[in-house]
Amino acid sequence: MELFKEMEKQGHEQVLFFQEQKTGLKAIIAIHDTTLGPACGGCRMWPYEKEEDALSDVLRLSKGMTYKSAIAETELGGGKTVIWGNPRQDKREGLFRAMGRFINGLGGRYSTGTDVGTTADDFVVLRKETAYVAALPKEYGGSGDSSIPTSYGVYQGLRACVKFRYGRDSMEGLTVALQGLGKVGLKLAGQLLDDGCRVIGTDIKEEYLDRAREIGVEIVGTEQIYDVKCHIFSPNALGAVINDDTIDRLQCEIIAGAANNVLTEPHHGKRLHQMGILYAPDYVINGGGLIQVADEILHDTYSEERVIKKCEGIYRQLLEIFRISKERDIPTYLAADHMVEERLATITAISTIRAKMG
Ligand code: NAD
Repeated sequence: MELFKEMEKQGHEQVLFFQEQKTGLKAIIAIHDTTLGPACGGCRMWPYEKEEDALSDVLRLSKGMTYKSAIAETELGGGKTVIWGNPRQDKREGLFRAMGRFINGLGGRYSTGTDVGTTADDFVVLRKETAYVAALPKEYGGSGDSSIPTSYGVYQGLRACVKFRYGRDSMEGLTVALQGLGKVGLKLAGQLLDDGCRVIGTDIKEEYLDRAREIGVEIVGTEQIYDVKCHIFSPNALGAVINDDTIDRLQCEIIAGAANNVLTEPHHGKRLHQMGILYAPDYVINGGGLIQVADEILHDTYSEERVIKKCEGIYRQLLEIFRISKERDIPTYLAADHMVEERLATITAISTIRAKMG
C-alpha cells in the first residue's frame, strides 16, 4: 500500500505504528479527522494474516468513526486502534499497559475503548497507564454496559422508520424479524413486545433462544429469518447480512438494527433504495454506545440522563436523512454521508471566524 496516497484518498490526518518487543505488542492507531474534536474509537485485537490487512482495517474503521461521531453530534473526531495479535493467546498485562503508555503519549488527541477482541477487563489494565480510555465497568468509574443506550437508540430509530414509512407513531400490530437475540436484540424484543408488536427472532445460541421464547418471541431458524414476511427486518448479530444471496429473499419494508456494516457493498444500499425498502444507515441508528462513551470522555461526571436524551436525537437524525434521500432520490446511506460531510464543512468554515486578537 502506498500509505500517503491512501491517507490522502481517505482523508486521514495521522497514522501511528507502535511496537514493544518484551510484550510482543504490535499496534497501529489511525486518526482520521479531528475537525469536531479529539479522535475517539475502539481498540480491536485481531490475528490479521498480514500487516497490510491490519493497516487497511484501521484506515477503514477510523474513517467510519468520523462519520459515526459526526452524525451523533458527539463533538469527537474519528480514530481507531488495531492490535495485531490473537485475543485468545496473546493478551498480557504488559501488552495492554504498553498500549496505554503509547496512547497516553498522544496527550488526549485520541481516546479508546473496547471493540472486537478486547473486553472491559483489558481496559481496566490499560487505564493504569492512561486516562484516555472510556467504557470501563461501572465499578471502575466507567459508564458500564453500552448495549443499554445502543438498544434504546435503535428503538428510537425503528420509531423514525415507522413514522416515515407508514406515517404513524404507534408500533402496535407491526411484525418485526430480529436477527440476533443477544444484549441489544433481547432488549429490543422486550420493548417491541410491550408495544404490541409480533416479534419473530433467531440466534445461534440455544440459551438465548430460551430466554427470548420466555418473553414471547416466536423462534425461527438462522436462515429462515431472511424469508420472514414482516414490516421490519432488524439485524442485531453480524455485518454483511444484506448481500447478493439475501437481498432478493427479504420480505420487509424497513431494515433497521444495531449490527455494523450491514450492507456488504454500497450497491446493496442502492438496490434497497430501488426496491423501496427503507434502510436506516447502521452508523446512525447504532450510535447509542458511542454517545455513552463520548459522555464519559467529554464530561467530568457521566450522566445517564444526558445520554438517553441524546439517543432520542437518533429519531430526528433519521427522519432528516430519509427526507434528503427522498428529495434527492438517493439511497439513505448516501444521504447520511452527505449530512456528515456538510456538517464537517460547516464546522471547518466557522473555525475561521476570529474570536480574539492574535
Ligand atoms: P451480542 O454478542 O450480545 O449479540 C449478538 C448475537 O448475535 C449473539 O447472541 C449471537 O449468538 C448472535 N448471532 C451470531 N451469529 C448469528 C447468526 N448467524 N444468526 C443469528 N444470530 C447470530 O452483541 P450486542 O451487543 O447485542 O450487539 C449486536 C450487534 O450490534 C453486533 O453486531 C454489534 O457489533 C453491534 N453493535 C453493538 C453495540 C453495543 O453497544 N452493544 C454498539 C454498536 C453496534
